[in-house]
Amino acid sequence: MNSEITTTVKKLLDAPRNIVIIGHKNPDGDAVGSCLALYFFLQKLGHNPTVIVPNDFPNFLKWLPGAETVLIYEKDINHCRTLVSETDLIFTLDFNSLTRVGIMQNQLEKSDAQFVMIDHHQQPGDYAVAAYSDTQMSSTCEMVYVFIESLGGLHFLDWKIATNLYTGIMTDTGSFRFPSTSASTHRKIANLIEAGAENTAIHQNIYDTNSPDKMKLLGVALNNLVILPEYNTAYISLTQSDLDGNNFRKGDTEGFVNYALSIKDIVFAVIFIENKQDNIIKMSLRSKGDFSVNDVARTHYNGGGHINAAGGRSSHSLSRTISEFISILPAYKTALSK
Ligand code: 5GP
Ligand code: MN
Repeated sequence: MNSEITTTVKKLLDAPRNIVIIGHKNPDGDAVGSCLALYFFLQKLGHNPTVIVPNDFPNFLKWLPGAETVLIYEKDINHCRTLVSETDLIFTLDFNSLTRVGIMQNQLEKSDAQFVMIDHHQQPGDYAVAAYSDTQMSSTCEMVYVFIESLGGLHFLDWKIATNLYTGIMTDTGSFRFPSTSASTHRKIANLIEAGAENTAIHQNIYDTNSPDKMKLLGVALNNLVILPEYNTAYISLTQSDLDGNNFRKGDTEGFVNYALSIKDIVFAVIFIENKQDNIIKMSLRSKGDFSVNDVARTHYNGGGHINAAGGRSSHSLSRTISEFISILPAYKTALSK
């Protein structure tokens, strides 16, 4: 975080304020973890923060310290609208474009509040008076650690902040194995453990709390796996009836796409998930090496993300989405064959 951003943020925080902290739609571990860590830190500085996310987050994140204080905009619309309209300082975490907040987009675009962005995705927007954007960073949680450090606040790290930051770094790095995991990431992790993050318990809370329904749905997903060896590509699809038949709960399909990517020689993996309610096919795209799924998601699927992990959507049927997907692969054949 450069000194210009630090100076701006210090000025914004020099007197106690009512602050709204916002994470992206379909919040993941990094979004919820970073928002809650910042929430506890801003409280320690004497502010009055509130975390709001556009829609609900999965049960495997509900144990995070402070999770019970998070407001869900779509469930508590009047209260959230009032808080957003009455604040003059908004932190946006783990996203960099106001198109990523679903039903909150309209209100945020009209807001006169000053925005501070902390985020590690590609191509940041320009809505913030202070934008701490670093696409090299493993996670927004790692950036919140740096943010706290830059404000001279590391002595405020307690087990609640440490647990939230540890969780977001762990989930966004695939448990510290993605290339974005640096020696510096591990040093921060060591400090978070010393500050009270219980690494074994956190891992179990996130990864060893699967429901039997989720495991059955994974079985269906693996059964639906298709491999396209010519393109080093594999994809999985799930229909709405696959989801309904296995009592789908939010978050149940998280990580499924990684099974497709785990196959030898596969460098590009996609999962297509039918959502009849929103009338879209939700897609998660993953890659190994320098094949950019961010580019594919931006060019074809009204989405984006990072080089090796991105999301997007299609408004066509599942079968048409898949056949169109197969038809774009020849254009990437060279990039996929490296
Ligand atoms: P997931 O596939 O897990 O939903 O998302 C993978 C990564 O891409 C995450 O970092 C997520 O924040 C980002 N992402 C997902 N959907 C979108 C999207 O529509 N636009 C952008 N810019 N990023 C996305
Ligand atoms: Mn993230």
